[in-house]
Amino acid sequence: MAVVETRELTKHFAGGVAAVDGIDLASTDGEFLVLLGPSGCGKTTLLRMIGGLEPPTSGDVLIGGRVVTHLPPRARQIAMVFQSYALYPHMSVYNNIAFPLKAQKVDKATQQQKVQWAASILGIDQLLKRKPRQLSGGQRQRVALARALVRDPNVFLLDEPLSNLDAQRRASARDELQQFQRRVGTTTIYVTHDQVEAMGMGDRIAVIDRGRVRQLGTPREIYDDPADTFVATFLGSPPMNLVPRNGHLLGFRPEHFVPAEPGASGAGSVTFPFHVHREEYLGVERLLYGEIGEAKAVARFPAGAPLAATPGETYEFAVQTKELKVFDRESGLRRHGEVPRL
Ligand code: ATP
Repeated sequence: MAVVETRELTKHFAGGVAAVDGIDLASTDGEFLVLLGPSGCGKTTLLRMIGGLEPPTSGDVLIGGRVVTHLPPRARQIAMVFQSYALYPHMSVYNNIAFPLKAQKVDKATQQQKVQWAASILGIDQLLKRKPRQLSGGQRQRVALARALVRDPNVFLLDEPLSNLDAQRRASARDELQQFQRRVGTTTIYVTHDQVEAMGMGDRIAVIDRGRVRQLGTPREIYDDPADTFVATFLGSPPMNLVPRNGHLLGFRPEHFVPAEPGASGAGSVTFPFHVHREEYLGVERLLYGEIGEAKAVARFPAGAPLAATPGETYEFAVQTKELKVFDRESGLRRHGEVPRL
């Protein structure tokens, strides 16, 4: 059963275009579903409508098969953690976590049991007596999650919950959050604009652009089989190369763009003259930046690859035909089936 489902969900803000434009999405039970897209694409608005914080203009939200479109947040059995999660500064960690239980008038013994349980799942049981100001950003984050967890939600809605952390903490928080989600098995909808976060954490990713879902799939499907040029270039760093040829756009990942073997042209690969501008050495890999005709292109190699490329020179590079994605030049949509004559 889909735990969270949206049907033709739409939001028009006064005077603006549709922030969310008829989105149909369905999560499976226990899934970690990521909503990924650039700033302003509508992902927060979509999450807020699922959570009941924003009334939709039209369409429906279903949770556990029940239409909840017009129910208030507290009737939806969801827990939300936003970027700007606020802990009560004057309360201890224990009381912060117990807060929703107190509000529900849960008895003291059950409160204590639930707070201990959530705190141990999140590894903050040693911190229950502290005040929020005595915690690191990552620990505060975990307190906010524990507070969400004690309510036994059917669904977690998380909006960029890691964005307040520095890069190093983010990586470990990402790992912790994912492990935690696996342990509790609660369906989670997670908003981010960070493709690394999305690829690393999501069971599936919905890529959103201008209020619409461009593609829904596993990280591998989205990366290997992008539905259009938006998805192809939004995921991957550096993004997929897009080169016009014979009225189409040819897409290929930088890691598939390699020096042509002498005499191999035509045998299952397509060659391109690659004019190299500069090289970047990144420790584990090297990137070559340059152009194919008018189009910018990047090639990526392991740092140790024996490759001598001089900026300013043009080299014959190749891509295996099986690694090429063909897109319609006008619509940007992927052309499946037969690869056209190149
Ligand atoms: P970000 O990653 O920057 O938070 P987002 O993808 O979450 O972006 P939303 O916050 O959902 O995007 O906003 C989608 C669009 O709706 C934007 O163009 C935004 O300006 C507009 N918008 C959001 N909230 C309102 C509002 N209360 N009134 C009017 N327009 C709004």
